This record gives sequence, C-alpha cells and structure tokens, in this order.
Amino acid sequence: MQTHDIRQRFLDHFIKAGHTEVPSASLVLDDPNLLFVNAGMVPFKPYFLGEQTPPFDRATSVQKCVRTLDIEEVGITTRHNTFFQMAGNFSFGDYFKREAIGFAWSLLTNSVDEGGYGIDPEKLWPTVYLDDDEAESIWHDEIGVPAERIQRRGLKDNYWSMGVPGPCGPCSEIFYDRGPAYGVEGGPEADEDRYIEIWNLVFMQNVRGPGGGKDNYEILGPLPKKNIDTGLGIERVACILQGVDNVYETDLLKPIIDLASRLTGRAYGAGNHDDDVKFRVIADHARTAALLIGDGVLPGNDGRGYVLRRLLRRVVRSVRLLTAGSEASGTAPAAADQPTMGDIISLVVDTMSPSYPNLAEQREHIVDVAVAEEASFSKTLAAGSKLFADAATATKAADRSTISGDDAFTLHDTYGFPIDLTLEMAAEAGLSVDREGFTELMAEQKQRAKADATARKSGHADLSVYREFLDRGPTLFTGFDELISEATV
Ligand code: ATP
Ligand code: MG
Ligand code: MG
Ligand code: MG
Repeated sequence: MQTHDIRQRFLDHFIKAGHTEVPSASLVLDDPNLLFVNAGMVPFKPYFLGEQTPPFDRATSVQKCVRTLDIEEVGITTRHNTFFQMAGNFSFGDYFKREAIGFAWSLLTNSVDEGGYGIDPEKLWPTVYLDDDEAESIWHDEIGVPAERIQRRGLKDNYWSMGVPGPCGPCSEIFYDRGPAYGVEGGPEADEDRYIEIWNLVFMQNVRGPGGGKDNYEILGPLPKKNIDTGLGIERVACILQGVDNVYETDLLKPIIDLASRLTGRAYGAGNHDDDVKFRVIADHARTAALLIGDGVLPGNDGRGYVLRRLLRRVVRSVRLLTAGSEASGTAPAAADQPTMGDIISLVVDTMSPSYPNLAEQREHIVDVAVAEEASFSKTLAAGSKLFADAATATKAADRSTISGDDAFTLHDTYGFPIDLTLEMAAEAGLSVDREGFTELMAEQKQRAKADATARKSGHADLSVYREFLDRGPTLFTGFDELISEATV
C-alpha cells in the first residue's frame, strides 16, 4: 500500500467516525518555544489548553512534523526520519479511552477491502501506563488482546504532559512485531527495533502540578474535560505494509536512494553499512530540507536556518563521500565535487507534491535555495578540507586521538566549518575533538568582541566632543552616521 493511500485511509476512517478533517499546518508556527512542529497535536494546543474553543468536538489530520532530536538516529535505527507525517485523531471533551482504542484497532486490523490496513492482529502489542487498569481492561476484555501481549510501562514511555501546570495523562502505544529477524522476543519492553512503535494514544485526563518525584507527577486534579490526542507514524506504517526493512526504503524515499546511487556510482544495500547509512541520510535529509524551504525557511547560522543548513550540508557530504568511495573503486560516474543537489531536490518535489502541492508550485525556489547552499558549502569544504586533513594527520603522527581545540577553532573561525562538521569528519577519521578547548576559545572570542564593542561605544561617546562641529553643518553628519554604523556592526 502506497504512502498516499495510507494517509487517505486514515483520514477516511476518522471522517466516517464524525471527525472534521483539518489540513496540515506549516512546519513553522509562530511559537518561540518550538523550532518546528513536531507532533500532530501542536496546531491544536490552544484547544487542549482551554485558551480557545474548538469549532469541532472531533478532528483528524495528517501533520507534517520535523524532529531535529532524531537527526543522529537517521539511517542508523530503522525507524527515525527527521521529517515524517503524523496522522492523528483528536477528541476535545468528546469521546475518551474506549472509543480511541476501538478506532485505532479497527483501522489497523480491518481488511484492506473494508478500508483498513489489514494488519494481522497477532502482530500487535499495546502498552499501557503502570496504573492504567482501565486501558488494560479495554485492550484485554473488549478488544481481546491476550494479556501476555499487553505491557505496562512507566513515566518515560507511557505518560504525556505539556507544561506545569498543564494537561497530562497516561498513554497507550501500539507496536508491531516485525519478527525474529529484527531482534529478540519479549515485546517492546525488550526490543524497540523488532517491535516498532506505530501509534501513540494519549489520554489527557489530569492537570499536572510542579511536584512529584522521578517516577510520578504531582496531579492537581482532573481536567474539566477529558481529551484524546493520538499520533500514528505514516512512514512506519508504510514500512510495515510495504514489507521493507526500514522507513527510508518506502515508496517516497527509495527513489531518492536510487537516484543517489546512480549519481555516486555506489550500490545501496550491497553489504556496506556505512554506505547505506549515507544513502538513508541523503534521502531523509533532502526531503526534510525541501519541505522546510517550502515552508519558508532559508539556510542561516542559527535557529531554524541552521538546522536547514546542517541538513543540506550533510546531504552534500554524504554524496561526496559515496562518490569518493566509488572513485577509489573506479566506478565513479563523475568527480566527487560535481553538483548533484538540483537533481536530488527536484526528485523530492516530484515524489512529495501529490500530497503537498505547494512544493510543485515553489519548485524553482526550493531547488535554487538548496543549490546555492551546495555551492557555498563546496567553497567552505575546498578551503577547509586541507587544514582538516593536515590537523588529522598531525594528530595521528603524534600518536594522539584528539584534534586540538585550536585547530577546531581555526576551522570554524577562518574557514566557516561548523563544529558539527569538524566533529563528524573527525569521527570518520577515527578521531575525537577537544570540544572543551574549542568552547573556551569561542568564549574568549566572544569576550574580545564584546570588549571591542565596548571600546567602540566609548569611542562613540567620545564623539560628543565633536558635537559642536556636528551642530555646524551636514558634512559631519555623514561622518557621524559612518561611525554609528561601524559601532553597531
Ligand atoms: P520512538 O520511541 O520510536 O522514538 P516516539 O515515542 O518518540 O517514537 P511519539 O512522540 O509517540 O513517538 O509520536 C507518535 C508516532 O509518530 C510514533 O508512534 C511513531 O509512529 C511516529 N514517529 C515518532 N518519531 C518519528 C520519527 N522520527 N520518524 C518517523 N516516525 C516517527
Ligand atoms: Mg522518539
Ligand atoms: Mg516511544
Ligand atoms: Mg511514543
């Protein structure tokens, strides 16, 4: 079943059950606490917090999500994308646990002809919170899941909260058993790669207070209205229903891996784990980058822009490393520094625009931004790679395993190498980096800049002695403006 169909079936299932379909919000919302929308419930926050009255009791959506926390997992686990689509159903003071569990179960296990996903019920393992007897009894007595396939888990996995004071409540997660080829027996508690989490049902029922311990929250009392918030990972369901190994090989991402393989002259899935991780990073990050640019983000040196920059740069480096590998074996279709971003991002737009037509509308802009970043990063790499190689060689020659803070700082300060890049390149060379030394030098530099600014400011204050000239005529005005702009650089 194709990803597009999986999305549509979800929406149809919940529309049929009286939910209003709400289109995905942008990945970037006007919320200073949130870099990117990272869950389906985010656009509904004002309703859950009681700040606004929802125009519906039940809603359903497929929300674009970006989780930067998962960047390091990409390509290494089988199930973490930086961009993914979270399908959800929401109840605002309407239905609660029984219906939420029933709706989820019927969508997962109904046959394909009936509009479901046709998943074998025996492969599904629900979890419930430690003391949530009510949810356990619904799963066991009403749905009929055998007791040994229902696991109880603690605060970290099965309790949700948002803010203090704020709404909170137990969760019930649904896992799919991929079988012994993927890990050990024993349910999600034993192995979250074999038992892959597909759906999280949150039962918002209480108000959380500031107290509590490591294993519990202080509960101030029940919410005036109980709510339901659920999130199903579309990419994970696609992985299961398409019978592929991981979320990067599904219908929307595998074409990008295949293109990267043609562009780099390197085979995917040929038994080289490091290569395969790079292919998955290319597919995952290129997609996230395209979606972010489509939602108005531009590469930059901090915040959202930096995340985008980092994603694009990781694509460029992964392509180059793969191409360099095939150069060594004589199969490279082109030199490692040839631009490839335009082709890759265009393909992302092709694969994703049936669900997100704004991407096709903005194709030129999205491709241009990504290609420009590739070009500027190529210059950075050309300038800094030799220094990095020299530093790495000198470190190894001296029988050390840590690149000095000095070198990391010079790479950053003179060649524009972000520390992440130095860390990544060092790790590839089997080295670490003296981060502490680097951070100290950065702090010193900041201090110097501050001192300079103060000096300039006091220089600026000294200008007052020229005030009498200033008062005389317009020529000195220019000088004053220049000094001001210099002081504020
Ligand atoms: P995991 O434990 O596997 O990291 P999670 O508990 O962090 O997942 P939730 O916050 O419960 O995930 O999100 C709801 C659903 O969204 C998950 O059940 C999963 O199907 C999906 N999901 C979460 N993170 C990712 C991701 N990085 N890539 C793809 N799907 C994801
Ligand atoms: Mg997670
Ligand atoms: Mg989890
Ligand atoms: Mg979860």
